[in-house]
Amino acid sequence: QGTKVDGFQLEVVHLTAEMAPLAKVGGLGDVVTGLARSCTARGHNVEIILPFYECIDEGLLDDFKFEFEYDVPRGYEWDGQFQVGSLKTQVYTATCEGIKMVLLRPDWSECNIFKGGRVYAGSYNETEAYLYFCRAGLEFLKVSGRQPDIVHLHEWQTSAAAMLYWEKYNKEGLHKPRIVLTIHNMDNTGECRAEEFGVTGMSGDMFNTVEKALDERTIGHNPERLSLLKGGVVYSNVVTTVSPTYAIETSTGQGGWLSGTLAEYQSKYHGILNGIDDVMWDPARDLYLPVPFSTSNLKGKYFLQKYVRSGLGLADPVQRGERKPLVVCITRLVPQKGIHLIRHSISKTVEQGGQFVLLGSGHADGDFRHLAEHDFKDHPDVKLIVGYSEALSHFLFAAADVVLVPSIFEPCGLTQMVGMRYGAVPVVRRTGGLADTVKDEENGFTFDGTDEGSLDGALCRAIECYKTRASVWEDLVVSNMKTDFSWTQSAQRYLDLYLSL
Ligand code: ADP
Repeated sequence: QGTKVDGFQLEVVHLTAEMAPLAKVGGLGDVVTGLARSCTARGHNVEIILPFYECIDEGLLDDFKFEFEYDVPRGYEWDGQFQVGSLKTQVYTATCEGIKMVLLRPDWSECNIFKGGRVYAGSYNETEAYLYFCRAGLEFLKVSGRQPDIVHLHEWQTSAAAMLYWEKYNKEGLHKPRIVLTIHNMDNTGECRAEEFGVTGMSGDMFNTVEKALDERTIGHNPERLSLLKGGVVYSNVVTTVSPTYAIETSTGQGGWLSGTLAEYQSKYHGILNGIDDVMWDPARDLYLPVPFSTSNLKGKYFLQKYVRSGLGLADPVQRGERKPLVVCITRLVPQKGIHLIRHSISKTVEQGGQFVLLGSGHADGDFRHLAEHDFKDHPDVKLIVGYSEALSHFLFAAADVVLVPSIFEPCGLTQMVGMRYGAVPVVRRTGGLADTVKDEENGFTFDGTDEGSLDGALCRAIECYKTRASVWEDLVVSNMKTDFSWTQSAQRYLDLYLSL
């Protein structure tokens, strides 16, 4: 625990499907860890409740110990009747990255929930697994006699806990907590049949109305469905999302069918920009980098750039007395990230006299592998790496002159902020959190359309600036590195909201 910075101490429990580095798939894991660490450092009592995924690396846990076993109520159908039984669950505690953890493990002789080699392993029914986890988390608080001030939920996976809390646990003794839900991405709203909800031990029928959790898109269909995220929005005391612009976009049409619900609950809906973990992402202390660098010593950055170019088999323009910017894109290869724009920017960068490196994985792996092995094989100015590598991502951020983020939508986005901290200049589509963090010709280059011509406008201006205005570029690099993207301000906003409850 840190010293009490705020003069008061809140007890906050996060219920989440991800936590970096223990169980990270995307930004959710980073955000939960960054926020929890920042609040812990200010002296608050923060705990993260996480599924005990079979794939968790126990080597990342300190003070790891078994605490006790308890029964989690669990509903099922028997002879056409709704019955409630239970699933034995083991509680383990540990610390990870200095944060207190509670890991809940279902009895694997009874089910295969959370088993498998990956976090979202696909070998069990995810809806059922996270409904169980919501019930298990609340039941854990009840049986251990806890009354935290705040239960902080994340995404559709833990939204049902808001519904279960206000319809059941709050009436049965777990009375103190107030519920905060953070939406990190509206791509998935947690569709669920009312019968499926029954696995929580509570019938889903009571939530099957437009005012509660009914998914309006399914009205008139047989069967109609619930949306767990909608239930979370309706039942939570406060709902947040990860940037002010995404909060506006999602409640004014771009949130799809949930926009109406978010607009209705506008007064409790807030956009708070994510921070980045400034210990994990610090070029002066980065454990992955053989050479540190900082604003007062940029030589390390240029050394790393040379090292990365040589390691990836790219030509070294410095040796030839040329100025060629290194454009880097680190991303999941999914439609949200603007795959057609990423593909287009490879040849555009080369045409404009730059070099391009991609580190990405996802749905479009096959396409990019094909490009890597055919169109750009042994290319002196292009390297396309299809895969996921934390270590390589650190090297690439350090080496980058430009980070490209051409997302179609982007709730917050972390790579533009990490890139800036490592002395790169972002080229981004002006949407969601990208619009909140990158201002055209102030700290980067932005474009609006989703077509290739719009991207070209910003990418070409960036490359031109790098090539012809070296001192302007260096000023940009230095001021980007000095910008404060840490969790300090964002954590304060969350604490203000917690306190308001
Ligand atoms: P999202 O959560 O939508 O994937 P964010 O920008 O919020 O996007 O967060 C992505 C995080 O995952 C960043 O920390 C980024 O560096 C990392 N990342 C994405 N793709 C890769 C990859 N292929 N290899 C290593 N890290 C990656």
